[in-house]
Amino acid sequence: MPEKTLFERIADREIPADLIWEDDLCIAFRDINPQAPTHVLVVPRKPIPSLDDLSEEDGPIVGHLFLVAKTIAKKEGLSNGYRTVFNCGSDALQTVPHIHLHLLGGRKLGWPPG
Ligand code: AMP
Repeated sequence: MPEKTLFERIADREIPADLIWEDDLCIAFRDINPQAPTHVLVVPRKPIPSLDDLSEEDGPIVGHLFLVAKTIAKKEGLSNGYRTVFNCGSDALQTVPHIHLHLLGGRKLGWPPG
């Protein structure tokens, strides 16, 4: 068995996190180092390392992550808007090799990102 990723360990309750969503396909929890008043990570249970590793069969999982992000944005009251981000690879500063959708909101976000 390959070693579990950090986010698999959170899903398996081996590492504590502020979990706010759980279903058959994904979990969502608050980022430990939030960059906005709402900063949630939506993470598939399947440990796909990065966007580069997605295959056709993962399409429904990725679609589901966005639908969950939209639902959480509504629950969090982000009626003025929000941003969703997949960082991919070192130039994008991806640090955890288990694909995750950032949901950021609750303040005016800058563009372009740094
Ligand atoms: P990325 O840089 O796109 O790979 O994002 C990884 C994110 O995971 C960062 O925003 C980190 O703050 C966050 N993170 C790392 N460890 C934890 C943890 N134990 N619980 C919650 N968020 C974490």
